[in-house]
Amino acid sequence: MEVERNHQWSLNDFEIGKPLGRGKFGRVYVAREHKSKFVVALKVIFKQQLEKYRIQNQLRREMEIQKSLNHPNVLRLYGWFHDADRVFLILEYAHNGELYKELSKRGHLTEKHAATYILSLTKALAYCHEKHVIHRDIKPENLLLDHEGRLKIADFGWSVQSRNKRNTMCGTLDYLAPEMVENKAHDYAVDNWTLGILCYEFLYGVPPFEAESQADTFKRIIKIDLRFPSNPLVSSDAKNLISRLLVKDSSQRLSLQKIMEHPWIIKNANPTGICN
Ligand code: AMP
Repeated sequence: MEVERNHQWSLNDFEIGKPLGRGKFGRVYVAREHKSKFVVALKVIFKQQLEKYRIQNQLRREMEIQKSLNHPNVLRLYGWFHDADRVFLILEYAHNGELYKELSKRGHLTEKHAATYILSLTKALAYCHEKHVIHRDIKPENLLLDHEGRLKIADFGWSVQSRNKRNTMCGTLDYLAPEMVENKAHDYAVDNWTLGILCYEFLYGVPPFEAESQADTFKRIIKIDLRFPSNPLVSSDAKNLISRLLVKDSSQRLSLQKIMEHPWIIKNANPTGICN
């Protein structure tokens, strides 16, 4: 069953269920479309908030980008509508919620789970890059899991559709590539860097350049102060992949294609993306 894409939606089309979470700009509820019985996540954003933070244009851009993407590892945006006070986004429902919660619950992931998520992410990013979309804000909070444990990239708040090198400061500290920390021009290779950071965080439970202060994290990123603790025990194949992604010269980072062919991925990842 699919949600009809070009329908003029309104709140009357949906039965609203339990709240799923609260974000910076609104709330998310599980909802069921009356006619098709299709279950979605309905994100409610107050127009007042959009005006207060002057992010109307950013949201429109985020929605246009996300609606144009159709990949099993990218959270679908089926459509949107608004009333006098609120904007509603009709999103694919990710039954298992945030990957971040799984990571905090388990401390760290198994190599099989980590490799499956990294492969799913790599495939999603290859698809986005083909469409000239750089996500730039990939972090565990923006990764959701569906009912089969399949990873979905969500939240295109910071993504840009671009063919040029960009040089605006954005993203989240621990996940920032050195060229972004140093406020230099950056391109698609920032997402490859983030894959290295996430791979480390999945396996060790903490991002690699974590420090007491923001300034210290910056320093560690710029120096590529990469250390592999002996506990938990992580395979040398995994460490090899991480080391080949966390490279200062962005042109020398392993390409998305090469990540998919890396021995650690081949040995450990489930190509269907299902993790349970
Ligand atoms: P956000 O405003 O996007 O940060 O969403 C707030 C919270 O709602 C998230 O942290 C998730 O736990 C939950 N959430 C958001 N979107 C979905 C979705 N499509 N499916 C399930 N849960 C979601």
